[in-house]
Amino acid sequence: MTIKHEVPSYLTQHGIGPWGDYLEQIDRVTPYLGNLARWVETMKRPKRILVVDVPIERDDGTIAHFEGYRVQHNTSRGPGKGGVRFHQDVTLSEVMALSAWMTVKNAAVNVPYGGAKGGIRVDPKTLSQGELQRMTRRYTSEINIIIGPNKDIPAPDVNTNEQIMAWMMDTYSMNQGSTASGVVTGKPISLGGSLGRREATGRGVFVVGCEAAAKRGLNIHGAKVAVQGFGNVGGIAARLFSEAGAKVVAVQDHISTVVRSSGLDVAALQAHVNETGSVAGFKGGEEISDRAQFWAVDCDILVPAALEQQITVENASSIRAKIILEGANGPTSPAADDILHEKGVLVVPDVIANAGGVTVSYFEWVQDFSSFFWTEDEINLRLTRIMREAFTAVWQLAEEKKVSLRTAAFIVACTRVLQAREMRGLYP
Ligand code: GLU
Repeated sequence: MTIKHEVPSYLTQHGIGPWGDYLEQIDRVTPYLGNLARWVETMKRPKRILVVDVPIERDDGTIAHFEGYRVQHNTSRGPGKGGVRFHQDVTLSEVMALSAWMTVKNAAVNVPYGGAKGGIRVDPKTLSQGELQRMTRRYTSEINIIIGPNKDIPAPDVNTNEQIMAWMMDTYSMNQGSTASGVVTGKPISLGGSLGRREATGRGVFVVGCEAAAKRGLNIHGAKVAVQGFGNVGGIAARLFSEAGAKVVAVQDHISTVVRSSGLDVAALQAHVNETGSVAGFKGGEEISDRAQFWAVDCDILVPAALEQQITVENASSIRAKIILEGANGPTSPAADDILHEKGVLVVPDVIANAGGVTVSYFEWVQDFSSFFWTEDEINLRLTRIMREAFTAVWQLAEEKKVSLRTAAFIVACTRVLQAREMRGLYP
């Protein structure tokens, strides 16, 4: 008798964690895809995965190795597109999920891209500037074979910024022998970056937040807002909400949580974070030591704008907000989604709420190709229009099908991706 060993595939091995959450979201949308459901397995399998070793010489002369990834989840509607994350907890499962959410996001707002994502498992705070540059350049060289202005276009994500995009653009260009500004977005303005790109994700969160508030009859002026993450997404969203008259009553970052029921001074908090690297020690509010308390804060709008898997069955029922705006990718688990739905909390899903970043990345890419640059007003106007239209289309479909905004966004996106898949046909 032969004993058959079931060897787990890389697809099922990563069934728990963010990739598992994503697969469950796809299962939830499948009944609404009609004949296109025949192609749904496409969504459950990344097209291409590249795992690379990234060795660098440290400043002290030792050699360090980091694990790097680039996942191209889907390219049916256009080249791969998505950020690069430097974080100590990066895993293949996470990058697979983030790349898949890019496919859905790009299709949901109808920008002509597939979905991709990259990352290196590293805490960049432990590297000197020189080490960071060497690691970024070596990683770019290693993924050089699959990226390019018409193939796959990286961008910033958690812990990566304009400087890192500049190094990536330069490394790719040196390998090609000519300057290729369209290979990454989120570049400095001096290298073909776009006005408004740095603020775009936070601005998009704010724009859909205003739309969602209008649907719920909530006045932004005086509304209480709580934000998790005070980086490029949460910091900007908090600023725009407070400028619109909302009260930012709680902010949590990776170190601490500060609250003030009458509203924090967001500009002063930003200045403090710029100086110290964290909201910890901010004198204009009260620090709370129990991190879990953040979820139970009395607020109208909650903006998770940090990492995935934050709103879970453990804390979902304690949430008091009427509206959740997912500035982060994948912050809410499917089981938590159900609890929030039961409670009548309106969840504006990541694939709509944080799509402002990639939308202005698209503008940047178009501007680079045409070598003609738009004004900031033009960019913000076009961004606002795309975000509003995407929100309205998803809202209407959710009402029609009696589903959550997430499922409606996935219906819109998966239909676009799978229609393209079907029309292109299988090769050979
Ligand atoms: N990292 C951002 C996101 O998660 C932006 C990606 C891009 O601009 O390509 O949407």
